[in-house]
Parts: sequence; C-alpha cells; structure tokens
Amino acid sequence: MTDASEYVLICVAWPYANGPLHLGHVAGCYLPPDIQARFERAKGNKVLMVSGSDEHGTPITVSAELEGVEPQDIVDRYHEINQQALLDLGCSWEPVVDPRGIEYGGSLFNRTSDIRHKTIVQQNFTKLLDAGLFERRTTKQYYEVSSNNKGRFLPDRYVEGICPTCEYDSARGDQCDECGATYEAIELKSPRSKMNPTAAIEIRDTDHFFYRLDLFQNVLEQHANDRNSVWKSNVKAMTKQWLDMGLRPRAVTRDLTWGIQLPLEGEEWDGKCVYVWFEAVQGYTTCAQIWAESIADKSGHPDGKDSWKNWWMIDDNGNSPRHLYFLGKDNIPFHTVIWPAL
Ligand SMILES: [Zn+2]
Repeated sequence: MTDASEYVLICVAWPYANGPLHLGHVAGCYLPPDIQARFERAKGNKVLMVSGSDEHGTPITVSAELEGVEPQDIVDRYHEINQQALLDLGCSWEPVVDPRGIEYGGSLFNRTSDIRHKTIVQQNFTKLLDAGLFERRTTKQYYEVSSNNKGRFLPDRYVEGICPTCEYDSARGDQCDECGATYEAIELKSPRSKMNPTAAIEIRDTDHFFYRLDLFQNVLEQHANDRNSVWKSNVKAMTKQWLDMGLRPRAVTRDLTWGIQLPLEGEEWDGKCVYVWFEAVQGYTTCAQIWAESIADKSGHPDGKDSWKNWWMIDDNGNSPRHLYFLGKDNIPFHTVIWPAL
C-alpha cells in the first residue's frame, strides 16, 4: 500500500424503519455503495461506510398506534429485519473493522435512536441556535380536544380531510396523495383526526424554530454549479427546481414526542421534538463519530476517538477526504440542498 491511499467515506441513505426493504431499494441504493466500497478497498484506499435505520417521525408513530404497540417496538422490528437482510445479501456491514487493519476503516450500520446520535444532534441544535440560524415563529396547528386531558396536537399524518385542490377526501395534513398538491394544514377542508375521526378538533397556536435555509440561497446555488459535472441530470434538475422556488426557513421542531428531545428549557417546549429531516441526515457524521468512539478507539486506531476526522476534515497537507453518497430519488433535495446547508 502506498501513502497515496485516500480516505473515502461511503454514505448510504438511511432506510426508514417502518417496513422491510424490497428489491427496488437494494438495487437502487444499497448494493451500488457496497460495490463501490469493495472497489475503493481493492485500490488500497481507507474506506469508512456509514448508514443505519432512520427511526423517528410520524409514519412510525401512526403504525405503532394502529398496531397498539410502542414506536420502539416498530423500529426494533424493522431495524433487525433490514440489517439482517443487508447482511444476508452479503453487504459488507460486517466486520465493522477493515480486515486489513483498523487504520483502513470499516463500517457501521447504526440507528437514529442511538443515545449518542441524539446527544450529538442536540449539541448541533444548540450551536445553530446560538449562531442565530434559527428563527422562532408562532404557527397554527390542529389540536384534538379531549375531555380527559389527553388532547394533543395533530402533526401532518395525524390529520386528514378534503384536498383543497382536487377534493380527494382522504388527503393528509400537508399533502394530497391523489393529486400531489402540498399545502398548509389549515387549508385542508373538513379536517378530522386520523386516529379519532369523531373527536372535536380546533386550531391552536404553537411555537416552533425554523432553520434559516434562505440565508444559504447564494452559497447553495454556487455549490450546485460546482457540482454540475458530477451530478446526474435528474439530480441537477430537482436541485434547480428547489433553488428556483427560493429557499424558505424550514421548521426544525414539531409537536411530537417520538423523536429527539429539544435541548431547551421552558414548558412551551414540552411535547415537542427535533424534526426528523434535521436529525436523520446528520447520521452521516454521528455514525462516523460513533464508529470512532465505540470501535476504532477500542481497536487501537492511532487517532482513537478522533479517527472519524480523517474521513470528515481536511488534513494538515490540505488533502480532503472523498465523500460518495448513495440515495434514492425521493431524497435528492435533502442531499443537494439541505445537508450542505447544515
Ligand atoms: Zn388533491
């Protein structure tokens, strides 16, 4: 092996832990990164491959309520099934240490319910808040009224009604699966609670923080230009579409308890958590850090707990690690606009 070997980070999109992976997922974004990882290792490069289960958000809590189990039961089930399916296919999520030696990297298939992932996300949340990149706003949200003090806010999938565009009668709180329209929940006609369709609902004020994506419009347009020669045409088109619409502040908190708790004092934040889009995408860095802390350090990597920095930071000689992302097309704007903005 020569000193010219590169640090290569293979980032695999995080499968959502609300159902089993199917062959389309595997062919789309789980097999290609594995082939790439083997190719890079064969070239003598130092490869770290990261991914894991994306375990928060309303599709999981809706599934849990419909089945009468806890959200943790749902994610434990699908994390196990999906991890095993990837291993059975021969994907190189094991061993977690490269057989050539720990300094050559390895892999980690983690999960977003990992306590260390939560802690790092909370630290990043606080840093961005302190840096003035969050804006606090009072928003209007549907609330299910209940006589026994069990009333609750109804985030996106918990409210259904008639689509304001096409009149489809099972449209969701934030989008219509029939015509594809997206809208504010309060624009929905004849809204009802998905779980208790006969319950009374009303609109209440609720405070949230929004990430100032709009501040990054110019720098993200520059980033998209710089990537023009490497992005595929559909990636370029979808990114351009997002940027052309103009970036707006995006909510980073929501009225849901299943998720990462907010690192904030004050009862107005009770019952709220970090929005899943903001934390799951950070898994690419948290997973590398967790691999370094829980595996590389104990396996004698010369850089110990800091070894993840080899795959994330420019070294003293100005060499950058190379990052390769593998994802499904649903996730394009999250990787070309949102992740670079964070
Ligand atoms: Zn519609």
